[in-house]
Amino acid sequence: MKKYLCTVCGHVYDEDAGDEKNHIAKQTAFGDLPEKWTCPVCGAFRSKFRELPDVHAAETPKPKQDPPKIPDLTRLKQSIICSSLARGCEKQYKPDSAAIFTSLAKELKESLPKAENVSFTALQKGVEHDIASLIPTAKKVAENHYDRGALRALTWAEKVSRIQHSLLERHAAEGPNLIRDKTVYLCPVCGFIFIDTHAPSKCPVCSVPDWKFEIVED
Ligand SMILES: [Zn+2]
Ligand SMILES: [Zn+2]
Repeated sequence: MKKYLCTVCGHVYDEDAGDEKNHIAKQTAFGDLPEKWTCPVCGAFRSKFRELPDVHAAETPKPKQDPPKIPDLTRLKQSIICSSLARGCEKQYKPDSAAIFTSLAKELKESLPKAENVSFTALQKGVEHDIASLIPTAKKVAENHYDRGALRALTWAEKVSRIQHSLLERHAAEGPNLIRDKTVYLCPVCGFIFIDTHAPSKCPVCSVPDWKFEIVED
């Protein structure tokens, strides 16, 4: 039987094993899952799953490509980079440098014009663009430079973007019911978001334990 990967959180649906949490019997084909079935870990819709290739099938090597050109950074991006650098400095116990990057990030952000026409649809489009274009481009650059740190960060970024997209899609379908009687948990390390009655035992993206999760209040 086949296996299907949740592209949001990495959970694997194994047809042989079924899904105990959602009362799906063993040997249930993915196509026979109920219409309303969602990922037992992150709640993503069935459409977010893809079939896993047979591990015994041979992999075809990919041709090498030139890295794409990176355009000049906007102020918003500079601000995001400065706040990431501030966090990096904090982790390395360099509070003075962290304070400088924090104030730089703030200054850059405050100099930005206010966003206009903000909507969930626009946000969803933006996240789609990240997943389809920006992240793969950044991955190619990192691969060509053998930058494993950047690759790891981008793998996280991709998963976090996928959960954001999944949640926006669910919000469009369910509206405020999405979080009714549930708690919103945020992984402070990688940014993954969970909406459930309890936090998962560990983050499926970066593996930090559940006590690290922050609860998001509205
Ligand atoms: Zn999932
Ligand atoms: Zn995490």
